[in-house]
Amino acid sequence: MGRPLTVGLAPGVWRIRLIGDYTNGFAFRDDDGQVTLLDMGIARSGPRVMRALEEIGAGPGDVTRLLLTHCHPDHAGGTAHVAEATGRAVDVHADDAAYVRDGTQPLNDGSSRLGRLFRRLPQPAMPGVPIGEELHDGQLLDVAGGLRVVHTPGHSPGHASYLHEPTGVLVTGDAIFNVLGLRWPLRMLCSDFAMTQRTAHRLAELDYRVAAFTHGPEIRERPREAIRRFLARQD
Ligand SMILES: [Zn+2]
Repeated sequence: MGRPLTVGLAPGVWRIRLIGDYTNGFAFRDDDGQVTLLDMGIARSGPRVMRALEEIGAGPGDVTRLLLTHCHPDHAGGTAHVAEATGRAVDVHADDAAYVRDGTQPLNDGSSRLGRLFRRLPQPAMPGVPIGEELHDGQLLDVAGGLRVVHTPGHSPGHASYLHEPTGVLVTGDAIFNVLGLRWPLRMLCSDFAMTQRTAHRLAELDYRVAAFTHGPEIRERPREAIRRFLARQD
């Protein structure tokens, strides 16, 4: 037995270790056993999401909703597998919906030489996935007592963070990484890096007790202070 795939963040909320602690998904369980999965990792992470589900004592039939923070292949890549296994469509912010449905990617930030070079590389192929609901900013989803959609565009046009209000778990998505400390995602992997930096400030205004990241481990000790400090350093 290796390390468990899931890390409990709060009652009914887990981080799923998709590529070690480097790339994460999340699971939210309602009192009645319904499970929502958020982010499915790269294509070969799909089966790992399903194993994580078993680890928390649930099965494919318990999954009632699939969600994504954004359309990039290291988050949406495993969706086709999980959608097939659970029979569910996936919900994502309206501004990323077409990319997920068609398996395409938005244009990356071309404001650096590296970014312009990166634009010319072939895009990783990703199967398209049926979209359930197109989400919008401020929406409160009926997920484990209430999951708030916080639109933080820039990394991708429809990038969203999610705040689980009952437990105070914030999932930043790729707005901020926690890989060897808090840091920005790479400029050339954002649609608009300046917008990424601008909209991340929305996270400083939220109320939360645990900051969880799609890249890197969670912060449980004074997470708001840590994120506010990080954002203040960038001004
Ligand atoms: Zn991304």
